[in-house]
Amino acid sequence: MSTSRTFPDNQNQRPEFLYDEHTSWPKTHSIPDENTSQPESRLTVALTATKTDDIFDRLFDRHSSLTKIVRIIGYCFRFKQHYQATTTLNPTEQYKALDAIIKAVQWSAFNDDIRLLTAKKPCSTHLRRLSPFLDASGILRVGGRILHASIPYEQKHPALVPKRHPFTSILIHHYHKENCHPGPATLQRLIQQRFWIISARQVIRSHLRLCIPCYRVRPKHIQPTMGNLPVCRLQQIKPFHATGVDYAGPIPLKERRTRNAQVSHAYICLFVCMSTKALHLEVASTLSTETFLMAFTRFAARRGPIQAIYSDCGTNFVGASRLFKSVSEYQNAITNHLSTQQIQWHFNPPSAPHFGGLWEAGVKFMQRWRLLRDIHQHFWSQWKSDFINTLQQRVKWTKDNGALRQDDLVLIKEPISSLQWRLGRIVQLHPGNDGINRVATVKTTSGTFKRPAIKLCPLPQN
Ligand SMILES: [Zn+2]
Repeated sequence: MSTSRTFPDNQNQRPEFLYDEHTSWPKTHSIPDENTSQPESRLTVALTATKTDDIFDRLFDRHSSLTKIVRIIGYCFRFKQHYQATTTLNPTEQYKALDAIIKAVQWSAFNDDIRLLTAKKPCSTHLRRLSPFLDASGILRVGGRILHASIPYEQKHPALVPKRHPFTSILIHHYHKENCHPGPATLQRLIQQRFWIISARQVIRSHLRLCIPCYRVRPKHIQPTMGNLPVCRLQQIKPFHATGVDYAGPIPLKERRTRNAQVSHAYICLFVCMSTKALHLEVASTLSTETFLMAFTRFAARRGPIQAIYSDCGTNFVGASRLFKSVSEYQNAITNHLSTQQIQWHFNPPSAPHFGGLWEAGVKFMQRWRLLRDIHQHFWSQWKSDFINTLQQRVKWTKDNGALRQDDLVLIKEPISSLQWRLGRIVQLHPGNDGINRVATVKTTSGTFKRPAIKLCPLPQN
């Protein structure tokens, strides 16, 4: 520890308070009455007070660890008594140092109240219900009503700590870290065994909101407002002109009806009309791209012509395909195959099933569509008057709870413990046509990924 910064070598500049008992340090705050004091002595008192404040302010500015600040003050006391600062501080020395820090903090925050109490007058109204008093060493403590409780003195009469002060943050941080990140209620109980923070609940909560390790345990993702529906869902067009596609299954299939028959798996390829929610189902024996293209050809021959196809990014097709190694390779193959038929294929970002809410919910709507088929001749008039209005409302995600910003540090949601989620930085935003960012490209140590906003949890920021 360097003492030369805080205490200059020049004898004329050395603060006089260091040679006094520490209990007398802050008392120099009380500026004597103008009528009775000499002008010279008033000047000295003011200077000393400024220096004491200055020392503690600088300490709170430079260090965020309570243990370190206590040690620095503890060694200052040794220095004062010409002891060598080679051995570690004993508990009594640390206790004394902490007392000195608390007193300095209280003098800067509760100056008026300490003066009133010293003059045996009632303190200000906001402290009155705590019945504060100054103990023998000059620390402002809570009087309270539990005088007769059989608990330690410090718990019965905790030292008062202001609501807004750098020391308060350091104290909360210290207790929170030392006790392995407890929740606000537990932390408040632990701190109150020795200190009484004004408006403790609120102050502790606001501090814990900024704790990164705690946030990692319970991260919050971004939820932008529900997006506008694409044009194809609001146009009066031929059924299946614009179609969403997804797979359902696997469904176990027995080759024979005997006991030992081999069981294989099949899938249902689900084609959903984007404007009417009509469903067309095709059976696919595997998830391979070849099987899918065959199912698609059957569907197109029956329902075509088709203008646009919407699907997720195709991770499941790639996983099962022998032909394609990556999603982009798969997407290129599909796009090339369909471009000859002038069909446009739109891929949604990965891990975002809610982007294709229509076909994800396709099976649920099948029953409803059968009823509508019977009144086909009145369909479009009903579609215009009733159905289109149901799309008007944003049934959920109606409120923006924050927004993604360029360069934000975010956790990427994965189906593992949140403590193992990868940390990344947003390098690119992909705003929708309403200007809201629902997708972002995130750079991590293991590569760059495109993810929807609901999979991203921005770290709290000061
Ligand atoms: Zn924490």
